Amino acid sequence: MSANKTLLVLPGDGIGPEVMAQVRKVVDWMDRRRGVSFDVREDLVGGAAYDAHGAAISDATMQAALDADAVLLGAVGGPQWDGVAREHRPEAGLLRLRKEMDLFANLRPAMVFAPLVGASTLKPEIVSGLDIMIVRELTGGVYFGQPRGIDTLPDGTRRGFDNQTYTHPEIERVAEVAFELARKRGNKVHSVEKSNVMESGIFWRREVTRLHGETYADVTLEHMYADNCAMQLVRRPKQFDVILTDNLFGDLLSDCAAMLTGSLGMLPSASLGAVDGGGRRRAMYEPVHGSAPDIAGRDVANPLATILSFSMLLRYSFGLGADADLIEQAANNLLQSGIRTADIMQDGMARVSCTTMGDSLLREMDKLAA
Ligand code: NAD
Repeated sequence: MSANKTLLVLPGDGIGPEVMAQVRKVVDWMDRRRGVSFDVREDLVGGAAYDAHGAAISDATMQAALDADAVLLGAVGGPQWDGVAREHRPEAGLLRLRKEMDLFANLRPAMVFAPLVGASTLKPEIVSGLDIMIVRELTGGVYFGQPRGIDTLPDGTRRGFDNQTYTHPEIERVAEVAFELARKRGNKVHSVEKSNVMESGIFWRREVTRLHGETYADVTLEHMYADNCAMQLVRRPKQFDVILTDNLFGDLLSDCAAMLTGSLGMLPSASLGAVDGGGRRRAMYEPVHGSAPDIAGRDVANPLATILSFSMLLRYSFGLGADADLIEQAANNLLQSGIRTADIMQDGMARVSCTTMGDSLLREMDKLAA
């Protein structure tokens, strides 16, 4: 296969470069063993970019992100940039990427690897085999709605206010992502809002129902209030396949679902944008965790969240499901063999470095590909 797929790798700060170094080994392995080749370009983002260029992402890097078939990001941030002006803080690089790539659908899988079932705070029978995908609307809703502000009313009462607003195209495009995903998974979508108390919730439900009837009637659609969804996630999480929800509820519910799996070092994510004229969907993949300054530079971070983000990239940007499956199966086998980084360490297991975790994963991939 020719190297016509372009990948922009942005390791970022803190543990970002350490975990990304392990991903680069997986990328090379895919080229060597599966004929899956990428034109890889690596660049700076976050504090590293600020130190080099005085901005959390340079215009050239931003353009490279817009031009790439997919972006893989490590993490940004760290205390050394606390004093930097807000518009140049490491997080500004991430926000610019999300905004200019128009990444409106955030995909957060909550999957429990069988060997880590004990890491969850929930009982094993509640979480074993868990495989949920949360699709959160990422660029609209109350975090962006106008008007917003803090002011004083004519009678002297002080108030703060935000505005939850969604247009029908905003709901439709994220709902399409959820329905399409469901078709490739368990064929079920729970659409989550608060239509019992919010007009925007009534509208959300109406638009999702309309789209379902018009285009996705083969997918099972259920509606659920967000507060009930939070409850059901810890009570009977396996009832869910795909959860579709807005920016605010998705923020809360995806963190709640993530913790069912027990470890931040295991959680990947994807953010998808619109499909362009050439049929290409802009996309950025990144671990859920941050730059972990407390362990940076010590080669102890868990690289699996970023490696699993790369497997999502193969699956969702390139349709390489079998290659993604291979990485995920290898990760499962690796954990089954008792290898652990510090964050997921359990009694009787072998504690290894970030580098060894990456090398051990390649060995498991070799075995599966043999
Ligand atoms: P964090 O996710 O970086 O770390 C939280 C805790 O989890 C730490 O104890 C850390 O050591 C541990 N941890 C995280 N990832 C791990 C991994 N792969 N392996 C082992 N342990 C891991 O969150 P934080 O401490 O709140 O934030 C640190 C910095 O990261 C801040 O500057 C914050 O702004 C930034 N941040 C960036 C992103 C991002 O780039 N998307 C996300 C969250 C936080």
